[in-house]
Amino acid sequence: MVYSHSKLETYQNCPRKYKLCYLDDLRPEEEGIEAFLGSRFHEAMEELYSELYFRLMSLEEVKACYDSAWKKKFHDKVKIVEQGRTAEDYFRLGLKFIEDYYKHYYPFNQNRILGLEQALEIDLYGDRRYLLRGFADRIDLAPDGLIEIHDYKTASQLPPQMAVEADRQLALYQLGIKQKWPWAEKFRLVWHYVAFDQELYSTRTPEQLDQLRKEIATLIDRIEAEQEFPPQESGLCRWCAYWDYCPLKKHEVALEKLSPSEYGQEEGVVLVNSYVTYWEQKKQAEAELEKLKEALVQYADRYQVDRINGSEYYLTIVRKEIVRFPAKGQAERQKLENILREAGLWPALASLDLNSLEKAILEETLSPEVLEKLKDLISKEKMVTLRASKKAESKDQTKT
Ligand code: SF4
Repeated sequence: MVYSHSKLETYQNCPRKYKLCYLDDLRPEEEGIEAFLGSRFHEAMEELYSELYFRLMSLEEVKACYDSAWKKKFHDKVKIVEQGRTAEDYFRLGLKFIEDYYKHYYPFNQNRILGLEQALEIDLYGDRRYLLRGFADRIDLAPDGLIEIHDYKTASQLPPQMAVEADRQLALYQLGIKQKWPWAEKFRLVWHYVAFDQELYSTRTPEQLDQLRKEIATLIDRIEAEQEFPPQESGLCRWCAYWDYCPLKKHEVALEKLSPSEYGQEEGVVLVNSYVTYWEQKKQAEAELEKLKEALVQYADRYQVDRINGSEYYLTIVRKEIVRFPAKGQAERQKLENILREAGLWPALASLDLNSLEKAILEETLSPEVLEKLKDLISKEKMVTLRASKKAESKDQTKT
């Protein structure tokens, strides 16, 4: 399998989307308007810079290219997520990006262009085990001798410098350019955040690039060992075109097609409604039981009794002393453990932390040797948990 920055990013954002897109090869027709605008802006830049070999296009010509590509490629599956926005709003935004960019870089003689939409292959360790491909928007030779890797971003948020210092995509392209042009020595990574008319810069040390190789190789190993590809819900779901196939969203999509009466009778809706009715009754009952417990303890204290009779049942009040310890993670907890260790009591009193061990097994952070030794002592099984969440904006989620 050949990877790319966007494949890796898709997996990190949502393993299920990665599977649907790259393994099941499902290509939904839907396209977010932000991505559509980004593509048209990139095309306009490619046109401007490729023509620059011969002549400088006027701003009006670049805008006309953008306008004609927008009209030609716009389709009815372009999705506008932001409420109240129209395609025309986004079209004008793109024009503004072009205008600002053009005025900023006019007369476009700052650098010598080495490549546009340059295809790059990145063979991480030279043995073709970890192979990636990508396209650099533009590669320039700057007057100070640095090779600049340029990327156009039409995002509506300007990222913090920390984020560009950690950005994987352009650093990966630096590795690809070094493989393609071994003479290339020094690099600068440049992001054009065109909505803000801002350039952000970063460079990478050889050590950072080595670290990047390791991280990407580990990520690829993880993807190749993945069995489940769980859906990972996030703010990005709003722009995801795979709702029809996503186990977290497809019921909602199916319900949207029903009439109000069909909706109320749909089997899943009926089951959830009755589950939640009982779950809410259980929550109320638990709160009532807690209040009654308090009243009963007060009654027992007042009348000095340990047993209180009802019609068919009686309740016995069992009192016992308990000791509270500092919680895990608190500094006092560490002190407590040290005292027990120094007193030689640790082996007798400390018990295995099964939660931490389970986490280490599931996240595969134990060494293969230890896992091999444990394999006959443990077994994995599926556990099902239902989580009831209020619809709309409520963040209240409770495990049941
Ligand atoms: S809707 Fe969200 S959870 Fe589902 S596949 Fe898309 S990104 Fe993943």
